[in-house]
Amino acid sequence: MLKAVNLRTEYKNNPIGMDEPIPRFSYELQGSAAAQSARKITVHTETGDIVWDSGWISCNETLQIEYDGKTLRPFTRYLWSVTVKDETGAEGPASGEAFFETGFMNLPWSAQWITGNKNMFLRDFPLDKKPVRARLYATALGFYLATLNGQNVTEDLYTPGWTDYFARVQYQAYDVTDLLVKGGNTLAFELGKGWYAGRISNAWNQGKATYGDTPALLAELHIEFEDGSAVRYVTGSEFSMLNPPLADALEVRSSDIYDGEVQRARPGMESWKCYRERIKDECTHVTVTRKRVAVVWQSGAPVRCCCTLGAHTIRTVSPGRVILDFGQNAAGRIHIILQNSASGQVIHVRHGEMLNPDGSLYVENLRSAEAVFTYICKGMEIEEIEPKFSFFGCRYAEITGLTKEDIENTETKTDVYFRVLTSDLERVGRFSCSDLLLNRLYANIIWGQRGNFLDVPTDCPQRDERLGWTGDTQVFANTATWNTFAPEFYTKWIADLNLSRSPDGSYPPYAPNPYSQVYKDEIVISGWSDAGLIVPWNMYVKYGDTRLLKTYLHNMSMQLDCQIRRAGSYIVCNARYKDWLNIDCPTGESYISTAYLAGMTKLLARIAALCDDMAESRKREELYGEIRKAFIEKFFSNDGELLEKTQTAALLAFNYGLVPENGVEKTKAFLVNDIRHTHDTHLTTGFLGTPLLLKVLTQLGEIDLAYDLLLQQTYPGWLYPVTQGATTMWERWNSWTKETGFGSVGMNSFNHYAYGAVGEWFYETICGIVPDEEEPAFRHFKLAPMPAKSMQTACAEYKSIRGMIRSEWRRESDGRFRWRFQIPSGTTAEIIFPDEGTVPAVDGITKDDSGKWTALPGKYEVYLGSRPEGTRKI
Ligand code: BGC
Repeated sequence: MLKAVNLRTEYKNNPIGMDEPIPRFSYELQGSAAAQSARKITVHTETGDIVWDSGWISCNETLQIEYDGKTLRPFTRYLWSVTVKDETGAEGPASGEAFFETGFMNLPWSAQWITGNKNMFLRDFPLDKKPVRARLYATALGFYLATLNGQNVTEDLYTPGWTDYFARVQYQAYDVTDLLVKGGNTLAFELGKGWYAGRISNAWNQGKATYGDTPALLAELHIEFEDGSAVRYVTGSEFSMLNPPLADALEVRSSDIYDGEVQRARPGMESWKCYRERIKDECTHVTVTRKRVAVVWQSGAPVRCCCTLGAHTIRTVSPGRVILDFGQNAAGRIHIILQNSASGQVIHVRHGEMLNPDGSLYVENLRSAEAVFTYICKGMEIEEIEPKFSFFGCRYAEITGLTKEDIENTETKTDVYFRVLTSDLERVGRFSCSDLLLNRLYANIIWGQRGNFLDVPTDCPQRDERLGWTGDTQVFANTATWNTFAPEFYTKWIADLNLSRSPDGSYPPYAPNPYSQVYKDEIVISGWSDAGLIVPWNMYVKYGDTRLLKTYLHNMSMQLDCQIRRAGSYIVCNARYKDWLNIDCPTGESYISTAYLAGMTKLLARIAALCDDMAESRKREELYGEIRKAFIEKFFSNDGELLEKTQTAALLAFNYGLVPENGVEKTKAFLVNDIRHTHDTHLTTGFLGTPLLLKVLTQLGEIDLAYDLLLQQTYPGWLYPVTQGATTMWERWNSWTKETGFGSVGMNSFNHYAYGAVGEWFYETICGIVPDEEEPAFRHFKLAPMPAKSMQTACAEYKSIRGMIRSEWRRESDGRFRWRFQIPSGTTAEIIFPDEGTVPAVDGITKDDSGKWTALPGKYEVYLGSRPEGTRKI
């Protein structure tokens, strides 16, 4: 029997403030049966009104089920459950009930945007009874922190997130029922410049504001009482704004994502109670303003603290100045607990990813980002300090105003730790193996993702960029979605990517793009702008999301068309960043662009077919043929010789099917020889070529070379930074070396995830979990590990959207090869046994006439070779 578990609405568990009129439901199957034959979904309101009863539907699909009931009402909680039948027709127990609660559902806000020259906005109001339900809906242009009676309404940070503020801003919904009291209540908001008005959105516009220069706030507090009455407090002229000196007492003097923050506290101004006591005479009126931006529900995932790191070492660099090493490069902020601080005592925190040879903090790679936190103490027994509106990429913190003794003395409460911040995504993938350096590389990939998943997928979290660079995103999205459950995160980003297109239809170099109104004539940048097709495709492969493909199909087509139109030919030339950071082996701009154009045209043919637009699909298929022909004519000789002699050129041609028949062997021989002999088993590729290396070599049957390249420990290659002590992915293989120290300062991030794209190969090849693009979201997949001769064990597990997939192999000490794997209910897997000896008979695995092995859902343990004893379906 089967039971539905882990019910999700629009990818979220029990969301509130959800405004999708046709939400999509999904669930996993649990139980001993292999497949679902039918399902029944019911959705009802809290008062029991059934708004959708799907009835029994014969269907094995458990994902992306579109709601098909009565029109959903705003501000309403709906509960839903599923019952399924297995392949024998036996009905399983009903699932537990999940819920979703709608937000505005396109109703206009009664709140008005408010703004002003202070950063604290509040409203004092009495309640004569305790409410039964209260929801706060809030957003800002800039960051906001909301408190009710001095309590934070959420642990979410950097709300409302970064969207294309020219077009849209997300609002958040919070259940604040328990924060309200009978009697006087204070709703307060503190605003910061954030992504809206900080340097991040004006640095490349000579410091002139792009979105706007003053933060603004919009909020509604909806309160319901047991007797059915309700009251709302909304932003507007009845809100107040704090005057100095009270505002000063409330801390943030200035804040900026790049530069850091100054907070000042004054004695006696400790808590929210001050606000209410002083509110009448210390506050001024706010300015009510209009904003044209659309306010949309939060489809994205929140940013939260995922862990805290204590200092590994503390070293005094000069009297009153210490450097703490947290042992791990990450993004976040330093939290300090001070005991017996003196009023006016100043604490400075500087942040760095590395140390200079003399032990001082290395900050040159931050470029113009100041990245300093300054705090002027109140003078109290215990004072806890932390930035509110900035974040830092660092492993080391240099703190002025504290001594090593202060921190180390266990008699005092003084303490310092690093709060690591990241978009809060479920970790669904894990990998480990017998090679310790590879395990560290994998850990660095995970940390690189954590540090660069801060509401948007960024290039780096430390210097004066931190932008959602599209090239970095497109190469890493596949690995990211092996590591984490990321459809919300990318769905939000894809929306902003589409809003940030230039007038001719080109996807931008980064999204959101604060400069889209400044550099209006931005053209396609091959390998970067192509994220507009590649990332939604990834959402389809991993999560079966066709809605995204349908929504953006037209925009994808526009981007491809505008390249051909501009070039007037199928040979296009618009790869501004080329094969970024290649190792002195540049590939021609027009080669890269045309290869990408061909690849994307082929991809679009598939996307259009999935969107049931067969005419568009045929058109793109034909165009692909034309572009391919033009590409081969230009970049291969008549006898099939590749004319661009770089690894990246060969990789792109293989990856996009652009090698002529008479060139396959020659091109492969060139690639293999170039890696193996010309470069002594080293890569020469940059951002675009590197992610293709292992994948293409594997497809070409060069698995040993792929492993040798991956396991290469000398420069340049994935393990080289690991041997140099890297704890994250670096922008360059030699960002720092033991022999020569720091690399070029202009581009020298120690937390840049792009080269971490190799992580996909760990899941897909070392352990062999291979998605089937025709049967997306792992409805069908392959298990086909390709074990390295030099490795004893490897294990990958992936909690797919349909359930857990595992593949673990081990060379036993008695010479046997053991392979354990797991296939979730409701899916099927083709089994490709590694070439490690005879395949034994296994219950649950059958071979068809063509020799193909297929396994039923379940857990297996298989011993390959002449001694299969122990082989079983678990
Ligand atoms: C970023 C890269 C990005 C690139 C474009 C850099 O400054 O850090 O990761 O893709 O610009 O070439």
